[in-house]
Amino acid sequence: MTSIKLVKEVMSSPTRCSPVSRVVIFGGTHGNEMSGVTLAKHWLKDPSELHRKTFMAEPCLANPLAVEKCVRYIDRDLNRCFSHEVLSSPESESDPYEVKRARELNQIYGSHLFDFVFDLHNTTSNMGATLLRCSNDDILSMHLANYLQSSSGNQSMPCYNYIIDIPKKDSIYLQNIGKHSLCLEVGPQPQGVIRADALSSMRELVNCGLDFIDLFNQGKEFPSFETDMYRVLSRVDYPRDSTGDISAFVHNGLQDKDYVPLKPGDPIFTTINGEDLLYDGETVVYPTFINEAAYYEKKVAFILTEKVSWKVPALKLEILGDHLGYSK
Ligand SMILES: [Zn+2]
Repeated sequence: MTSIKLVKEVMSSPTRCSPVSRVVIFGGTHGNEMSGVTLAKHWLKDPSELHRKTFMAEPCLANPLAVEKCVRYIDRDLNRCFSHEVLSSPESESDPYEVKRARELNQIYGSHLFDFVFDLHNTTSNMGATLLRCSNDDILSMHLANYLQSSSGNQSMPCYNYIIDIPKKDSIYLQNIGKHSLCLEVGPQPQGVIRADALSSMRELVNCGLDFIDLFNQGKEFPSFETDMYRVLSRVDYPRDSTGDISAFVHNGLQDKDYVPLKPGDPIFTTINGEDLLYDGETVVYPTFINEAAYYEKKVAFILTEKVSWKVPALKLEILGDHLGYSK
């Protein structure tokens, strides 16, 4: 039973991208995901760490009111407010706080005003360092992810490539307001808690990402490569009784087994009486976001992915005139 598919052939010529000069790092998009909150607050006070030779990244606390109250959101999940429909709808005083904030952020950082968007998140699931993006069209972001995965400093936590695979025009996520983007999901970390391992891992990933952008801006070429990627197949809800209450919980054998192959017949849920429910799919899949605290309200017990092998073309800086696109 094979679960690795080759989904794209390598392109012969390198992809050319213009220099990345405006970079924003969002923390606190969800106000109780403390690695991004802590780092964004720190960098707002002292941004020196975000300085590189060819640019300086800008930190931003995406949902300050939710951060203040240490909750995921006030009225609505901010990271689901970036649809074209929401951003372009007529403004009203009665709009939810996050809708207003989404429009504000889009005005400052959107419409490709910023070349690269980092969006920092934590998950309560055992996801290690997950490098999440919505599509595979963003070749520069895929090279950045590859650089993170291959940099020796990041061995403290396993690093996974993750793709939701939705067209950019249908996206509802903050990361898509940038020309290029990457969302970092680091876990496990409980909501409202700062774990030193998650914090330092995220800090290292961001710094390493900024190093990559700096090298790219200076004209370094990055060869084509092949990588494994976890692509979203479906979201699985908890079993429920006739009143809508959850009637079975994530099975102990599945708990913390994010990215571990799930085979047909493996137990996935267990009832309060100890009755096991088995996975009845026909192929091996890779569950992720298992028992994520924030997804109870979204009726998601875990998200199934398939592992695909992906070939990414080489990356080259597009030279503007005879300049490198930045001043030395
Ligand atoms: Zn989040």
